[in-house]
Amino acid sequence: MSSPTARRILLIDDDRLQHALVHGFVGRFRGGPWELEVAADYATGLKKLLSGKYSVCLLDYRLGQRDGLELLREARQAENSTPVVFLTADASEETDDAAMEAGAMDYLVKGELNPRILEHAIRYARKLGETMGQLKLLATRDALTGLHNRREFDRMVADECQRAARFGHPFALVMADIDFFKKINDTHGHQVGDEVLKHVASLLAGQLRVVDRIARYGGEEFAILMVETDRKSAVEGMHRLFALLAETPCQPEGTDLTLNVTLSAGLAVMPDDAAACSELIALSDKALYAAKHAGRNRVVTAHSLKA
Ligand SMILES: [Mg+2]
Repeated sequence: MSSPTARRILLIDDDRLQHALVHGFVGRFRGGPWELEVAADYATGLKKLLSGKYSVCLLDYRLGQRDGLELLREARQAENSTPVVFLTADASEETDDAAMEAGAMDYLVKGELNPRILEHAIRYARKLGETMGQLKLLATRDALTGLHNRREFDRMVADECQRAARFGHPFALVMADIDFFKKINDTHGHQVGDEVLKHVASLLAGQLRVVDRIARYGGEEFAILMVETDRKSAVEGMHRLFALLAETPCQPEGTDLTLNVTLSAGLAVMPDDAAACSELIALSDKALYAAKHAGRNRVVTAHSLKA
């Protein structure tokens, strides 16, 4: 993804005259140069918008047979983070409400446009988009490790459960916990404990595919969601991770410590082990508990507990 400060505008509009008009306006902006890129139809526009390459998007309300609102809703479902300003042919309170409801930052009436109004709207939308992005980061990420937090992870698991139910795709959920973490904290202090958490988090994140999701689920507990993954592949993935952990001890900065860190993990898969989300989480927890009891530094599957 390019820098969020790049001054790049995406215009999605099916009207060539509008392209030329906006181009002329952008050329007369006072606050320095902006790049303008144009998409003339719904599909191209949506694809470009979701590329995340633009700092702001101007979106036409009427796109041939289709509707800018629909595009905006679809973009939001795909977690679009680019701020969008609506362009409409006429002002109406209904359009205004609908645009706001769909997640637009602002809406401008085409006939009232001039360079000053457009530049102003773009600057505000961009600033607001940045602020909202920072708020979202605060609300969805764990501050220490940068991983997803528990609330965000629960949301992603619920989404994945729905997808699994609809399309029959399997996925795996792993709950993993650092072994003897309390002892690390008690012996070396909380700062070293934090370093160990960051160490494990970065190894986990480095090992996963981009489609997988990982969270700091609790104090020293991590949760991993592996999409399109059956039990066998998930267990293999965890074994690779354990091997990596074993060969990469944690060496906290500013200390001469070398700490060997191990994990215990419980693994359950959808739909083989569970039919519902809550059941899946409970089963992985139970398997994690069994891994601790069996001597730690291992992965236990929910499946193996059923026998
Ligand atoms: Mg149009």
